[in-house]
Amino acid sequence: MKYQIAVIKGDGIGPEIVTEAMLTLEKVGQKFGHTFDFQEVLAGGCSIDANGIPLTQETIDICKAADSVLLGAVGGPKWDSVESAKRPEKALLGLRESLGLFANIRPAMMYKALADACPIKPEIIGEGFDIVVCRELTGDVYFGNHYRKESDRGWGEMGCDDMNYSIYEVERIARRAFEMARVRSKKVTSVDKSNVLETSRLWRETVTRVAKEYPDVELDHMYVDNAAMQLVRNPGQFDVIVTGNLFGDILSDEASMITGSIGMLPSASIGETGRGMYEPIHGSAPDIAGKGIANPIATILSCAMMLRYSFGLAAEADAIEAAVEKTLNSGHRTADIAHADETVLSTCEMGAKIRDNL
Ligand code: NAD
Repeated sequence: MKYQIAVIKGDGIGPEIVTEAMLTLEKVGQKFGHTFDFQEVLAGGCSIDANGIPLTQETIDICKAADSVLLGAVGGPKWDSVESAKRPEKALLGLRESLGLFANIRPAMMYKALADACPIKPEIIGEGFDIVVCRELTGDVYFGNHYRKESDRGWGEMGCDDMNYSIYEVERIARRAFEMARVRSKKVTSVDKSNVLETSRLWRETVTRVAKEYPDVELDHMYVDNAAMQLVRNPGQFDVIVTGNLFGDILSDEASMITGSIGMLPSASIGETGRGMYEPIHGSAPDIAGKGIANPIATILSCAMMLRYSFGLAAEADAIEAAVEKTLNSGHRTADIAHADETVLSTCEMGAKIRDNL
């Protein structure tokens, strides 16, 4: 099969890590008989430099025409003084909106070979954890009206942000979560604040109703404050966590941090169609850009997610994940995950090792 991939290398370490990911996809193509056609486009700071804006219509059109989008990272101090409407990060919001991406999928798992990087005590971690946070991306308080008004208690000016969720939005993210759980450990934890919020009461009712379509998947509900605590108390209890945009923003970062290795974690943003946008969770790491030392694993694992979720190529995705695990198990490390006494590989060397292990 032939697949068209729009590639946004972006800023900072973006070009270095995405190059390794593209080479890995090419190797997968040779091994499994697929062709991946890459079309590189600009977004973020490099697009501001070239076009004066972080996201052009041309980039949007090419991404829309592609089977999927691979992204490095955008942003950096060079563009920090740009007015907020034109900042590099606006490119990500614009792409998510234009491509109709409503679900953000972030796995957080502990690699046995990197267990000592996990900030939680081994007796709590036990056998480890393998969590997927499924965060709704286009609704909630982030997309309600934001305004100021005079407090009716006479306390002066107040800021207001409307929190909204429709049944439609909750149903579609809930279905994504249940479908994901079906091919994993068949457990969904829905996180809300239904003891206080009306949006959360509608969320809980809707998720409970959708769950009836998936009798093979166990559903439980948790308040967000408890979920934040349980993630560090007993992360092994979770399989798929489904939650709204605001709670998901916070919990997905918390889940990432307990792995102890931010350079390892991939993510996917997906919508109704098969097309998704795949990117590492970390940023453009301007402090190490151009030094050839960035860890390419999160971006390479993002390609595995693309193969699995957008192209239905599960064996190919498994092959990439197994190659990463084998590379780590044989003691190969980039600087961010190495101990003082370990030999450190460059970005290119780590990419090459993973490809050797494919
Ligand atoms: P960051 O994730 O870029 O870096 C945080 C720390 O982690 C740095 O010390 C960095 O060197 C290290 N790090 C990150 N990725 C690494 C990798 N692959 N290998 C080795 N070390 C790695 O976060 P930040 O410093 O807060 O942000 C830097 C820029 O990235 C900012 O402009 C921010 O807006 C942007 N950003 C972009 C995205 C995105 O494009 N999706 C996400 C987050 C931040």
